[in-house]
Amino acid sequence: KRNLLQILKGRENVTIDGQKIMLYANIGDLKDLGMVMQNDAGGIGLFRSEFIYLDKETFPTEEEQFKVYKTVAETMAGKRVIIRTLDIGADKQADYFNLGKEDNPAMGYRAIRICLTQPEIFKTQLRAIFRASAYGKVAIMYPMITSVEEVLQIKKIVEEVKDELRYQKIAFGEVEQGIMIETPAAAMISDLLAKEVDFFSIGTNDLTQYTLAIDRQNEKLDDFYNPHHKAVLRLIAKVVENSHKEGIWTGICGELGADPELTKLFLAMGVDELSVSPGRILGLRKIILETDMSQCREEMLKKYL
Ligand code: PEP
Ligand code: MG
Repeated sequence: KRNLLQILKGRENVTIDGQKIMLYANIGDLKDLGMVMQNDAGGIGLFRSEFIYLDKETFPTEEEQFKVYKTVAETMAGKRVIIRTLDIGADKQADYFNLGKEDNPAMGYRAIRICLTQPEIFKTQLRAIFRASAYGKVAIMYPMITSVEEVLQIKKIVEEVKDELRYQKIAFGEVEQGIMIETPAAAMISDLLAKEVDFFSIGTNDLTQYTLAIDRQNEKLDDFYNPHHKAVLRLIAKVVENSHKEGIWTGICGELGADPELTKLFLAMGVDELSVSPGRILGLRKIILETDMSQCREEMLKKYL
C-alpha cells in the first residue's frame, strides 16, 4: 500500500477545488529524517527536542545541541524546521533534572515552566537553535503555554540571547516563533496570544487530556479519551479562526492531525498545516487530492462541531 502511495511524491497537497494545506512531519530522533525525506514532507512541524536530553547523564551542551539542529536544518535544505523547546517532566523524565516526584506530573513542573524558572537551561537551547538557523529555515515553538505573560517572558529571554549572539558576532537567521496550543487556557485566549507570535501549533494529545480531564497515560481511561469530543474540536476551530483574524497560521501536530476521518473537517476549519508521523503524509495527501471542499464544507462543520 505504501508503495502505491509513492506515486504521490512530488504532488501538491491541494483539493479538487484548489484549497491547499501544508503536510509536515513530526520527528523525535535524527533517525527519523530518512522517513521524512522518503515521504516528501513539506517541512518538519514538530521536532521533539527531548531526545537530546533524555539519553544522557547530564545536560547536553550548547555545542552538542547545535550539531543536531544544524544537521536537521541542512538536511531539510530550506524547508521549514520547527524545533520545539524542551518538553520534559510528566511522562518524560531525566534524573539529572532532579524534578522529584509529584502527585500530578501532567499538571506539574514541566516544559516551559522549567525553562522559565531555570533560564540557564532554556538559554543554552535557544542559543543552539539560533546558531543552527544560519543553516536553514528554522522556527521555534514553545510547549505548554497558558498565558500571554509567559509568552512575553519568553520573548524577553529570546531578545537577550539574540543580543548576546550579535555581540559575539555569531551568525543567525530569521527565526519564526510560535507556541503550542495544548491547554484549554491557551485555546480560550488564542485571540490575545495570536498578537504575540508568528504561528500556532495545536497539540491535540495534551489538549484532549486537559480539556476532558483524562490522563493520556492511564490505559483504564482509554475508552473515555475521545479527541473527537465536540469540546476539543470546537476549541480547535476557535483557535484557527482567532489565528486568521490576526493574520497568522495554525497547524495541528498532535496525533489527531493524522486521523483520516477528520482531514475534511480540518480543511473545512481552514487549518493551515498538519504535522504527522512521516509514514502518514502520503495517505493524507491522497485524501486531500480526492476531496472537493465545496461539496462537503458545511456538512463537516455541522456534523462535528
Ligand atoms: C501534543 O500534546 O499533542 C503534542 C504534540 O505534544 P506531545 O505529544 O509531545 O506532548
Ligand atoms: Mg504536548
